[in-house]
Amino acid sequence: MSEVYFSKELNEKYLKVLEENIKQKFNGCKKIAVKLHFGEKGNKTAFIPEDIKPFTDILKENGFEYFLFDSSTSYEGVRDNPKTHKEHAVEKGFDELGPIVTDDSFILVNGKHMDYEVCKPLVDSDAVLVISHFKGHDCSGFGGAIKNLGMGALTKKTKQEIHEGGKPEILDNCNACKACEKACNWGFLKIVNNKHVFLDCYGCSNCIIKCPNKAMKPKVALFDSLLADGANAARSQFKKDYYINVAKKITKICDCAINSKEVIAEDTGYFAGEDPVAVDKACYDAISKQEGKDVFLKFNQKSGLRQVKAAEKLGMGNPEYQLVKA
Ligand code: SF4
Ligand code: SF4
Repeated sequence: MSEVYFSKELNEKYLKVLEENIKQKFNGCKKIAVKLHFGEKGNKTAFIPEDIKPFTDILKENGFEYFLFDSSTSYEGVRDNPKTHKEHAVEKGFDELGPIVTDDSFILVNGKHMDYEVCKPLVDSDAVLVISHFKGHDCSGFGGAIKNLGMGALTKKTKQEIHEGGKPEILDNCNACKACEKACNWGFLKIVNNKHVFLDCYGCSNCIIKCPNKAMKPKVALFDSLLADGANAARSQFKKDYYINVAKKITKICDCAINSKEVIAEDTGYFAGEDPVAVDKACYDAISKQEGKDVFLKFNQKSGLRQVKAAEKLGMGNPEYQLVKA
């Protein structure tokens, strides 16, 4: 069972606990990669430097060298290449916290379902501090630590391959019931004259999951399984790692959107530990308890627990945890 350290607020006592944990975990490390998501240009609910400063201050005060890192996006925008991605992070003021690295170098890692290009700056570091904004995601229910690695620690090419690998193939036993139409959050899928018509597809696999007749299968594997497999491939290359989830401004969709849509849950707090699966599960449980329901399933039609279960199956971590309140 993994320990997850929780506090509703980022108070002095909690920061002291995190400092002790990080000092102990990163003992002997020189260069630390801080894995972040700088947020899409125009997004108002993604991290700002003030959200991250208390954690980089811990690194600084304890003599660690560190840099802030994120990878290029698979979709078009300022974050789709190292140059404008870095300029965007600087424009948001993240350079005041420390050096920013956005380069596209990678090493190829063999996973269960496919090969994953894992970002080299993370692999080359002595340790990775993964700081994730926990919020909804329309492809995976929610996005936290697993998603920050399973997409965020991988190259643009691998991100595209994950989305491609989760796309559906139609089998012979389809009876045109249209359940898959309703499962698509974007209305991309239509059944016209008993045939599937795809206006587009992000490969989230939700239509496959919701088909009552098992008449669809993913090209490679379900999106959530590929996400967890990619996260596990990345994590397998880290020398040391520690995870902090920030469950505040819990929006319906992720920080890759210009508008992450409505806030679907009250601010819940901070969750930290050495096990990304436990940290995500603790975060999800606390939000669900607080709201009296699974808000991610309600708003995004997808259970985020799929990625948690897939990660557990791969041996990436343990969803059983002990919550330590600070
Ligand atoms: S939900 Fe399944 S059976 Fe129904 S139309 Fe879609 S693929 Fe066919
Ligand atoms: S895989 Fe996702 S995005 Fe693609 S059609 Fe199915 S539900 Fe829509």
